[in-house]
Amino acid sequence: MNKLALLFALIFSSITHAWTIDGVGDFKFEQASDRVYVMHGPIASPNEQNYGFMNNPIFIEGDNGLIVIDPGSSKFVGDNILKEVKKISSKPVVAVINTHVHGDHWLANHAIKDKYPDAKFYAHMNMIREAEYGEAQRWIKTYSDITDKAKGTIAVIPTYSIGHKDTLTIEGQKFIIHSPLPSSHSSSDIMIEHVNSKTLFTGDNAFTDRMGRFDGQSNMLDNIKILDYAKNLTIDTYVPGHGYSGAVTQAIDPYLNYLKIIEQESRKGYEEDLADYEIKPFADKHLAEYRDWSGYDEQLGKHINKMLLEIEALDL
Ligand SMILES: [Zn+2]
Repeated sequence: MNKLALLFALIFSSITHAWTIDGVGDFKFEQASDRVYVMHGPIASPNEQNYGFMNNPIFIEGDNGLIVIDPGSSKFVGDNILKEVKKISSKPVVAVINTHVHGDHWLANHAIKDKYPDAKFYAHMNMIREAEYGEAQRWIKTYSDITDKAKGTIAVIPTYSIGHKDTLTIEGQKFIIHSPLPSSHSSSDIMIEHVNSKTLFTGDNAFTDRMGRFDGQSNMLDNIKILDYAKNLTIDTYVPGHGYSGAVTQAIDPYLNYLKIIEQESRKGYEEDLADYEIKPFADKHLAEYRDWSGYDEQLGKHINKMLLEIEALDL
């Protein structure tokens, strides 16, 4: 190969190799387990530079079609995800499962509906209901305010409702839905077990490398319970909503232990009648290994505040 051809080959491979987001990184699907592919999205909060892309889109290769989980935050992100899917499989997308109502996970349904109008969309009943009653429009506005790339996204709200212990068999792939508690990260979470490969997609019940947020619909104590529940399933590979995947010690324990430290320090503080900001330095002492997680400084105080409210409510 002469130099010019080599140069072209290099440029070509860098184009086809991954979705490159300038200043953010290269994003492509990696095989996480048998037939399971995950694109580990940017870890920073959604912003203009990362086009609002921040979650872990997933696809599972079935016999004659693909099952997608959480394709991303906008039509634009979804189009790019589909381009990356194509590099691995030319099979059509036949089903989409969304883990919860937060827009970073599902607004890209629009891109899939556009290309594969026959695909079926699944989610927890609460997600469908909340999206229909205003959350869809609120999330579209949130993302359109963050980045122009999200503008024009239309809400494709799932129509198939799934809940705890439901099973789905799609193109030879078996899934069990786990949603044992009314709310944890949100009030519409499902965890999806891919039985064939012993993989669990936790949605935002688990994070690695970045901190979760807990809004008014969430329950931190139940998030702890649900991660203990997830640990007791027969699973080899855990895929969190954000951050790297791995065995239980890599992908579940870090966030679970963080939440347990927040609980323990908040309980101590509650006994001693301390305010959240007084508890914070004590908690921080035990959290050295989390200080480089994205959102740590921003979330720690909020997490203690929320945990205190939950502990107080139990005490009333
Ligand atoms: Zn999320």
